[in-house]
Amino acid sequence: MRWSRSFIPTLKESPAEAEILSHKLLLRAGVVRRLTGGLYTFLPLGLRVLRKIEGIIREEISSVGGLEVLMPALQPSEIWHQSGRYETASGVLYKARDRSNKEWVLSPTAEEVITTLAAGEISSYRQMPLNFFQVSVKFRDEIRPRFGLMRAKEFIMKDAYSFDCSDEAATISYRKMFAAYQRIFNRCGLINFPVEADTGVIGGSHSHEFMVPAETGENDVVYCDSGQYAANIEKATSAGPLEPASKSETGDAPEKFYTPGVTSIEGLRAAPFNVSGSQQIKTLIFMVKPSVADATKAVVVLLRGDDQLNEAKFAGLVGSTVFRPATGDEIFSMLNAHPGSLGAVTSTLSTSSLTLTVLADEALRGARGMTTGANEDGFHLRHVNMDRDVLVTCWGDLRTVKAGELCVSTGKPLKIQRAIEVGHVFKLGTKYSEKFNARFLDAEGKSQLCVMGCYGIGVTRTLQAIIEQSNDKDGIIWPLAVAPYAVCITPLSVVPGSAVMQTAERLYTELTAAGVEVMLDDRDDRPGVKFKDADLVGFPIRLGIGEKSLAKGEVELKPRGGVLQAVKVEDAVKQVLAVIAAKTLSE
Ligand code: ATP
Ligand code: MG
Repeated sequence: MRWSRSFIPTLKESPAEAEILSHKLLLRAGVVRRLTGGLYTFLPLGLRVLRKIEGIIREEISSVGGLEVLMPALQPSEIWHQSGRYETASGVLYKARDRSNKEWVLSPTAEEVITTLAAGEISSYRQMPLNFFQVSVKFRDEIRPRFGLMRAKEFIMKDAYSFDCSDEAATISYRKMFAAYQRIFNRCGLINFPVEADTGVIGGSHSHEFMVPAETGENDVVYCDSGQYAANIEKATSAGPLEPASKSETGDAPEKFYTPGVTSIEGLRAAPFNVSGSQQIKTLIFMVKPSVADATKAVVVLLRGDDQLNEAKFAGLVGSTVFRPATGDEIFSMLNAHPGSLGAVTSTLSTSSLTLTVLADEALRGARGMTTGANEDGFHLRHVNMDRDVLVTCWGDLRTVKAGELCVSTGKPLKIQRAIEVGHVFKLGTKYSEKFNARFLDAEGKSQLCVMGCYGIGVTRTLQAIIEQSNDKDGIIWPLAVAPYAVCITPLSVVPGSAVMQTAERLYTELTAAGVEVMLDDRDDRPGVKFKDADLVGFPIRLGIGEKSLAKGEVELKPRGGVLQAVKVEDAVKQVLAVIAAKTLSE
């Protein structure tokens, strides 16, 4: 490709809309352009990179038996009602109505469609294992679309779905996909690692996210230096808080004391009360809708004052993702007190007309001498013993792990790292096969439900994650495997018919014939401008051709981010191929 015939609108300055480095580089290097928040057009260079990433994905998923299909992006809303996700996923669903007022959903993912297909097509155990995948546009009405392609309204996802005869067979499918994911992200040149992920309301132990460490990531990963433990903070556990619960015996009964204006853990921690966070019980109330058919009910959550609620764990425990904090008015009508005065002691929590479900975090087990709100504005209770004074409906792990707490398996301190989630593998079990009646006859002729797995990769997010991880002050450094072109030939002057241009054209032809993808920067611009652009755009190898070096029979070869080296013109092609071979091995 000749630069003058391509379309690479590079920018000197970062547009104001760009928040993080990779987002700035996407725009400055002419990879994408914004239509509006969360919607981007891929320009020619960007599309080439995207196609390369997709190519790697297609190869690896096919190599573990994946069969490519393409499902409709427009889905009838009935199947979302059938799966129950019309309600649970309603926050992200883009919906549309047609001329007859029928409602449609723009695909955010495709479990409903693929399971409908499987229900109609799979009838015998002989047809499995089956693994269907597609690479297609997905739509999500994100609360906060941001960071360019990282969290977009419309993005490209590879989604795959496996169907197996048994749980054991499904685990094998899962492992194959897990290994394929490792190869995919490695081939994309990404430093990446799998972490245990939250399985939410579906449950089960098999879910991993593939993470790319980056400060701009939207996930916190908890890990142990031993390499034996890494989990998304939504799922992570530890040996418990570093400061153990207070177990000292105090008093025969809770004692009410006057705390005017104190409505927070902080307020009670301060003088004159001086109650540490670990001696307090934090009381929260959530309104939960357990399922489509159920009415909303209030659930009380108890945590230590120095802990934070982990909403993913809470969702897992209540078996629903449809919940929200109770409003001040709702709380007042239930308990006659305002949110800052809530407390855990049963005698103050239940009224004759109301018995509340109480979930308590394990860190509170056996705690004594605790302080909590009195469910009466302006008062707290001290000398509260969990065992004696608080009736807990259900104990569970509800707290968010903190850095420094000890790893359950190694006993070493845990660390926390920000990361970008680029992929997700999930053993679904029979959740969707049940809803869509996806059954087969086993070897004994018995009807069974298909056991499913689902596997996603954010293709466009992966592209930006590569930039986030691979750049320097001059611009993007594309790993060879995904680079839009491997080599940029930069003649320092473009006088037609000159020795410089003849050499440039010849090397262009020879490299192209050797199977190398080459950009020839034939723009009549200052060399400085062209070099800057080539670096910004991030071609892995630059071949500079100038009169002076050519007079010595040389051209200048410079790997992006590497050292410039003079090579003989007649060796140039060989040398470029050698650098490509070395990069292919090392990346
Ligand atoms: P997140 O927690 O970041 O919202 P998710 O759990 O909703 O992700 P999945 O439903 O597992 O994501 O989708 C599979 C992959 O699609 C994710 O691993 C991610 O790489 C990508 N992805 C999800 N939402 C977006 C988005 N709004 N923009 C770009 N990529 C996305
Ligand atoms: Mg999401």
